[in-house]
Amino acid sequence: MLKKVLIANRGEIALRVQRACRRLGLASVVVYSEADRDALYVRHADEAYCIGPAASAQSYLDGSAILDAAALAGADAIHPGYGFLSENAGFADKVAQAGLVFIGPRAEVMRTMGDKVCAKQAMIAAGVPCVPGSPEALGDDESQIKALAAEIGYPVIIKAAGGGGGRGMRVVESEDALLPAIAMTRAEADAAFRNAAVYMEKYLLAPRHIEIQVLADAHGKAVWLGERDCSMQRRHQKVIEESPAPGLDAAAVAEIGERCARACEQMGYVGAGTFEFLYEKGQFFFIEMNTRVQVEHPVTEWVTGIDIVEMQLRIAAGERLPWTQEDIVRKGHAIECRINAEDPRSFRPSPGLLREWIAPSGPGVRVDSHMYGGYEIPPFYDSLLGKLIVHGSDREEAVARMRAALHELVATGVQTNVPLHQELMLDPAFLQGGTSIHYLEQWLMKR
Ligand code: ADP
Repeated sequence: MLKKVLIANRGEIALRVQRACRRLGLASVVVYSEADRDALYVRHADEAYCIGPAASAQSYLDGSAILDAAALAGADAIHPGYGFLSENAGFADKVAQAGLVFIGPRAEVMRTMGDKVCAKQAMIAAGVPCVPGSPEALGDDESQIKALAAEIGYPVIIKAAGGGGGRGMRVVESEDALLPAIAMTRAEADAAFRNAAVYMEKYLLAPRHIEIQVLADAHGKAVWLGERDCSMQRRHQKVIEESPAPGLDAAAVAEIGERCARACEQMGYVGAGTFEFLYEKGQFFFIEMNTRVQVEHPVTEWVTGIDIVEMQLRIAAGERLPWTQEDIVRKGHAIECRINAEDPRSFRPSPGLLREWIAPSGPGVRVDSHMYGGYEIPPFYDSLLGKLIVHGSDREEAVARMRAALHELVATGVQTNVPLHQELMLDPAFLQGGTSIHYLEQWLMKR
């Protein structure tokens, strides 16, 4: 049983985890950097510890400082949220060594999934379809590499095994560009992720990004909670997410969902997780697994009625999943817009004083945000102001609610991407649904 949970994160997700703890009657402790003294989650906290200066490396990424705070507070578990240390297997090990529960899968499983080459191998073993590509990290034999690329067929994409956040990837159109691209990606990957291993995949020309949410307990049972479509991306960063994915064949989604759930059982996966796929011409291709709660989890919560963060806590406390797959029923349609403090045209971050913040409300509207009028948005972290999530009986109603909610949202003092979302909610291709991962970038170029 858990008694006290330390939340090793900031922003809207710290608030989100804090809410789930309260709802379960669990005590929670928050940590904050010097730049986050005035954060809402600190104000709402029962107990809060400053863990260092603004720079993430000296605060939210400082595992020892976080463990010290946990010891001081007498916490018995750590929820890592997303980003920061959430997918750091070394940190998960240290948490376990300190005798605390890391709310997530075992460190060993995190390590496998954190290396995309190992992750793909694990998926192939579990019968989950992957993007055709190199079975292992690329070696040094140039003729072998060229032969592999020719066999896969150009264009190919070179990806860092330890990559994340849309970094460490390079598309190669023809053989003459192949070896230099591999050398550059290796060098970048070594600098950014301290792991120079790279691998090769077929570059899919117009896929959609479809992901499957799973929950697995520590007693060998897993379920899948439907799919999300996160194809609206800019620079590999998601901008709009929704569930269900428009126009997909329900039987095909169910088949892939089942495979994900069985893969979890086979790997001994515990907690919430997401299998990310590219989807093209009716086929799913696994690209990576996220071993943590995701930014876009609320769209799944709304269509399933399941509180994913609460389930993370209950699973970490050793509870069994209270349902079988047949009990997971999805209703209606949910859409999430990520609201960022940024210039809607140049996308330059726009931190500073948020003079006014009036969140939309009404039927079918949810706002997960740590904003308030008078809040000074620090320049040190991501520019997410919050997430606007709507639900409708169908996609059309959800879109209509999103338009009304975007109209109600007031954020002054900084620039936001609300105007971008407003335009997209009127865009014929978005309204039709099923756009590819390149659509938004192409749309922005035309504009
Ligand atoms: P990260 O961990 O950095 O997010 P992913 O492997 O999830 O990396 O890929 C991020 C994005 O890059 C995908 O959502 C997709 O837009 C693009 N991408 C990755 N692999 C391919 C591929 N084989 N073909 C086409 N696009 C790809």
